[in-house]
Amino acid sequence: MRVHYDGPVCAGCEKKLLQADPRIAKWFRTRVKVLKPDCHISWSFRGKEDQDDAVKEGKSEKPWPSSLHNAVQNGKPCSRALDLFRIVNGKAEFAPGYFFAIWEASEKAGDPIRWGGKFKSIGDYCHFELSESSLRIKENSNGQDQKSDQEESQES
Ligand SMILES: [Zn+2]
Ligand SMILES: [Zn+2]
Repeated sequence: MRVHYDGPVCAGCEKKLLQADPRIAKWFRTRVKVLKPDCHISWSFRGKEDQDDAVKEGKSEKPWPSSLHNAVQNGKPCSRALDLFRIVNGKAEFAPGYFFAIWEASEKAGDPIRWGGKFKSIGDYCHFELSESSLRIKENSNGQDQKSDQEESQES
């Protein structure tokens, strides 16, 4: 069943954002959707089973719970990464240039975002995550973050 529809607000994406860090959710709504109304989220939070599958399928190098997609805050899913895709004629597309344009606009605007197309050994073009500097600010401000060591490393 189709859940994603192009436009400024997509119900399918909003559902995914319920399990995402508010800062990356805001970035998606105010940067990505404004620039690319046909952009959607394939993954925000991944539970253990989904992360195990992602590792098995070679989509992630990070075993549970070390991926930013596995981040939890106060016992609730709080993904600090989003995997995106584009819908073209009803089909999902993952063209690198499309994601590059999103990254470029984010860089220019100074958004606290890192792009998998830049930092992964094998380009993970659809992957965007909160930058380490923005995570550090958060850790310092509330002192409750328990994943700081793992988040220093690059991830999928
Ligand atoms: Zn969507
Ligand atoms: Zn990802």
